[in-house]
Amino acid sequence: LSDKLQATLSDVRARGTLTEDDINKAMREIRLALLEADVNFKVVKSFTANVKERALGADVLGQLNPGQQVVKIVSDELTSLMGGAAAGVSFSPRPPTVILMAGLQGSGKTTATAKLARHLREQNGSSVAVAACDVYRPAAVDQLVKVGAQAGATVYEQGTDRDPVDIAGWALDRAKQEGKDVLIVDTSGRLHVDERLMDELVRIRKVVRPHTILLVVDAMTGQDAVNVAEQFAQAVQFDGVVMTKLDGDARGGAALSVKAVTGKPILFASTGEKLDQFERFHPDRMAQRILGMGDVMSLIEKAESQFDEDQAKDLEKRLRKGEFTLEDFLSQLRMMRKMGPLQSLLGMIPGFAGNQLKNMKVDERELDRVQAIILSMTVEERRRPELINGSRRLRIAKGSGTSVQQVNGLVKQFGQMRKVMQQLGKGKMPDMAALMRQ
Ligand code: GDP
Ligand code: MG
Repeated sequence: LSDKLQATLSDVRARGTLTEDDINKAMREIRLALLEADVNFKVVKSFTANVKERALGADVLGQLNPGQQVVKIVSDELTSLMGGAAAGVSFSPRPPTVILMAGLQGSGKTTATAKLARHLREQNGSSVAVAACDVYRPAAVDQLVKVGAQAGATVYEQGTDRDPVDIAGWALDRAKQEGKDVLIVDTSGRLHVDERLMDELVRIRKVVRPHTILLVVDAMTGQDAVNVAEQFAQAVQFDGVVMTKLDGDARGGAALSVKAVTGKPILFASTGEKLDQFERFHPDRMAQRILGMGDVMSLIEKAESQFDEDQAKDLEKRLRKGEFTLEDFLSQLRMMRKMGPLQSLLGMIPGFAGNQLKNMKVDERELDRVQAIILSMTVEERRRPELINGSRRLRIAKGSGTSVQQVNGLVKQFGQMRKVMQQLGKGKMPDMAALMRQ
């Protein structure tokens, strides 16, 4: 999807003006790309209609050329298609908050149960218990015992001999007795949606009266994931979706359609087998990822709201002349840190949005280091980084308490960034592919 969209839109982008014909052509490409990415047909139809309507009616904004505007509209609409703002689970006023996990076998329920337990402990300081109600596979109980403990949750299990509905009721009583804030109930899944699966879920639901039902779906199954979600929505209802295996899904089609088809938002994203590869789902970031590019426009937007006008004009002028310096870099770094959250900002920088970096944790200390290195340079060096030779590097490393390698790394990184800035300054979108190869 991303490649297709990028190809289409870079075509639109390259030109300054936009005709209705252009929009139609772009929409056709977007429609094809979405269908190819396994996005639900009806969703594609209404999506392209929305984008077109907005693109035709849009006033020309100051900073963006019409092509960039289409990209921005597509990105906005993708975001709202997936639910707009990120949401979380809500807590019951009378603890324990009971969360029931549902989904097909292998979708990632047990893993997500432990991940969610860990997430709630860390984010909310909640005391969490998990209940092992998948009694059909002996290994399933052992698995939850293991990952539940890793997650720092209390695991309630009674082996595999009792009825899962009874175990659920027993676990709820215990959670109450032990004053747990949250009880997450892991259930069994089957290979397909069938009556027995739904019946058992309904019975467990009756007993534990969950505050939230989360449906776990595997992003790698594409359109199937959406069909499964639709079937669950009809049979048991649920409040939100945990989308798993997003690390393996290059297309993103399932994530795009779920909200539109079921009316329920994706709340969490699982991006790997490790317990910490789990986070609140951010529709805007997913939209960026689907578009497959750093969102230069919104970086500009954010920067604009922070910059005062003159400074922005001044920078723009120098960008056009290709005069971006380490001093500018430093002041941008400082500005970015004011703007936070850094993770999302980095995702907007072209070259940072690649897959290999998507799980990257931003290390604030790393930024301190970068600042220290730049501060250890002379003004002359900041303005003309090409001056920074071996002996200067050594001096800068010593002055900033870093190593020569770290100084080298920064200088190299800056060089790449400057290239991006120069291309932007010339009104061109940077060549992402070329940048990624560096
Ligand atoms: P369940 O049958 O629904 O309980 O699914 P499990 O939690 O046992 O997960 C099934 C398999 O998928 C296991 O091998 C997990 O390690 C793996 N898995 C779960 N979530 C993810 C994820 O986000 N990414 C990847 N790559 N694998 C996952
Ligand atoms: Mg399981």
